[in-house]
Amino acid sequence: MGWSVAERDGAALIVGGGVGGLCAAIALADKGWQVRVLEQAPQFGAIGYGIQLGPNVFPAFERLGIAQAVLAKSLLPGNVWMIDAFDGEPVTRVRTDDAFRRRYGHPYVVIHRVDLHKILVDACKRWPSITLDEDAAVTGYADEGDHVVVSTQDGRRLEGAFVVGADGLRSRVRAQMIGDGDPQLIGYVAHRTIIPFEKAPKGAPLNDVALWGGPGFHIVHYPLREKTIFNIVAVFRTDTFSQKGDVESYRAELQATYRDAHPVMREMIAMLDLERRWPIADRAPQRGWSQGRAVLLGDSAHATLQSLAQGAGMAIEDAVVFADCVEAGGGDHPAAFAAFEKKRLSRTARVQLESRFMWDHLYHTEGVESQVRNEAYRARSDEDVWRCLDWLYRDGPR
Ligand SMILES: Cc1cc2nc3c(=O)[nH]c(=O)nc-3n(C[C@H](O)[C@H](O)[C@H](O)COP(=O)(O)OP(=O)(O)OC[C@H]3O[C@@H](n4cnc5c(N)ncnc54)[C@H](O)[C@@H]3O)c2cc1C
Repeated sequence: MGWSVAERDGAALIVGGGVGGLCAAIALADKGWQVRVLEQAPQFGAIGYGIQLGPNVFPAFERLGIAQAVLAKSLLPGNVWMIDAFDGEPVTRVRTDDAFRRRYGHPYVVIHRVDLHKILVDACKRWPSITLDEDAAVTGYADEGDHVVVSTQDGRRLEGAFVVGADGLRSRVRAQMIGDGDPQLIGYVAHRTIIPFEKAPKGAPLNDVALWGGPGFHIVHYPLREKTIFNIVAVFRTDTFSQKGDVESYRAELQATYRDAHPVMREMIAMLDLERRWPIADRAPQRGWSQGRAVLLGDSAHATLQSLAQGAGMAIEDAVVFADCVEAGGGDHPAAFAAFEKKRLSRTARVQLESRFMWDHLYHTEGVESQVRNEAYRARSDEDVWRCLDWLYRDGPR
């Protein structure tokens, strides 16, 4: 038997044990690689809120052997609604029922991030060739030509065949490789909350995903975990987006921002947990995701606004395409990384660009633009809406 690529070349080092890093670990292990995932947090885990996943991620989940596990923990909403923040009437919807599932071959799901992460960590643990290192904050890497050396904050130096920067929006690997600074803060912040399902305001479509959009603010909500809990995300524009305030100052801002919004939205605002806020940021699409034996994947390569709910989706897709490219590269890693970028750039850039467009011209319109938006979108049929999404839901990697 000949040498496998992994035996000849050393381990693949992945910086970041988020969705993208863990999926990449499984995909590489499946190709025969030894993989080491370095996560800065004391435990592999996720923030305790929901996430939406389109049908485009399921072919990747099937390849990773976790599609059934994800489905078992997911809810399948029948619609994704967009609702006008003032009149409370639907602007448009994506029907995500059986007809949607027949069209795209897979469902639209919502799942608790903690459940998704547990599935990914458990899947990694089933591979003896994957090592998960917690408390391993990476400070930098050195490309030594025929291998890489990754350094951690606690003074370790780890050798590998190549390094994958799956370290998210504020990627250390990207900072070293490209050095293009922090992601672009866009002046919006998010507050996330989970409440018991029975406490959710009755005037909302509680069984579905819904987004209520108004000028400079929106709310997204959906049920989770067999409709026992209800996930609410409130997002709005504020001058204090880069400052840390306290609960009372956050509450005052929210009350002022949402004061004219529909009563259902105001009811949800009153239920928010205001302990933590997330400033919203993305990056403009850019070429150059790799250099020598280092490569970026997921948010570190192509961070996006959440308008299409596809940031994690793109990271999951990246993972399987990446492993295919590494295998096809046959040991020529720079060539494999260039092929990976070539395969992924347009699709991920389109998600970034369309998300920015939707942010401004669908979610947060005001005045005449809102009137035009409502008339234009209300005239669309279910088929019209699906056709706009075919490129995203149908053309993912298999
Ligand atoms: C409000 C909001 C709602 C969203 N909703 C959706 C949605 O519904 N659907 C969807 O698909 N996407 C959604 N997203 C986007 C999604 O969360 C991200 O795109 C996704 O998490 C990116 O995955 P990643 O693995 O690239 O990065 P991350 O999930 O950010 O993982 C990066 C990991 O790297 C670790 N790390 C960072 N630096 C280091 C270091 N120096 N050393 C070691 N480890 C490090 C971090 O601790 C983290 O575990 C949303 C985002 C926001 C803000």
